Amino acid sequence: MGETSLTIITRNQFTERISKADSILRLLVNVLLERYRSGLSSVKQHHAGGTSSEIISDRLVGEYVRHGIDKMRLESELKNALANNQLEVLYQPILNVATRRIAGFEALARWEHPERGPISAALFIALSEETSLIVPVGLYVLERACRDVAVIQAETQDLDEPLYMSINVSALQIADPGFLSKAQEIAEKHGLATDLIRLEITEGIALDLDQTIEWVQEARQMGFKVALDDFGTGFSSLDTMHRLPADVAKIDRTFIEMLAEGPRSRDLFRGIVSMLKTLGMQIVVEGIETRSQLEFMWALDCDYAQGYLMSPAIPLDDVLVLVRNPPDLGEGSV
Ligand code: C2E
Ligand code: CA
Ligand code: CA
Repeated sequence: MGETSLTIITRNQFTERISKADSILRLLVNVLLERYRSGLSSVKQHHAGGTSSEIISDRLVGEYVRHGIDKMRLESELKNALANNQLEVLYQPILNVATRRIAGFEALARWEHPERGPISAALFIALSEETSLIVPVGLYVLERACRDVAVIQAETQDLDEPLYMSINVSALQIADPGFLSKAQEIAEKHGLATDLIRLEITEGIALDLDQTIEWVQEARQMGFKVALDDFGTGFSSLDTMHRLPADVAKIDRTFIEMLAEGPRSRDLFRGIVSMLKTLGMQIVVEGIETRSQLEFMWALDCDYAQGYLMSPAIPLDDVLVLVRNPPDLGEGSV
């Protein structure tokens, strides 16, 4: 007879895996688990002399089913929206802090659902990341953003420095081996130099570091600039910073919100800026909403600022009006 060994799987190990599973699989496993648990508890109650007849928690099962179906519905609606060109791409200006001129834009996807109204980017991007829809959604955004920045460039030929376009790239796209060459093809098709395109990657998501480093190197060899998005909210380990050869760091807006809390948060901010500068990275500060925040960025010699003080994300037509009549944000002064 062979030996039997027992391996203990903790609840955390199990739930962590379930939470990462496909939404439909998750739904099925949760329903099964719920039925098992309620069965178990009714057996326990029976042995303890209880009288409960509730074997299945219908309410909970119903909730899981509703949630799963809602998601499936949204997912197929997103697929349709993509097929019917119902996704929009808006552009948020990014300011050069020293000159107070627009330096570039970040492309942000928008989905106006015909019945539900606008669906937040955070929500539908997360949904498309869960399914693999992010790959076609990402290419759609890339195609639109390249097409539109080519139009913007044609309108702003007299500028000393051409305006750049920043585009979000999610972990699944990094894992897609064809992504970078497709991006290069799209840029070429629109007559754009790749160094005018910044690919924003997020540190927080479960990225394989070695794979990411290789990807960043390849992207930069093709001429793309690479930005670390939401900088400071992920692990930001010093080891990662040392190994990841990105061009730009976008300091997350939570650090800007913290500035008002006092000298300690301002010191922390200064420290982050000086570390990034030592590493030779350009700095974009996100979430600038007030004049005094902008002045502080100027005093710290940050390169770029993005936020509602300048403008939210706007459609191409408004971008063209804006670049023809740039807003007057004054010279940097403290
Ligand atoms: P993100 O990449 O960090 O983009 C910046 C977000 O901050 C945008 O939210 C923008 O509208 C918002 N924002 C800009 N300035 C301010 C400000 O001054 N104050 C505040 N409170 N918020 C500001 P949005 O457009 O809702 O996008 C949310 C997230 O969805 C993005 O965060 C990005 O992670 C993701 N996302 C959007 N479009 C795409 C896309 O095309 N591809 C991918 N992979 N992700 C995208
Ligand atoms: Ca971004
Ligand atoms: Ca960000």
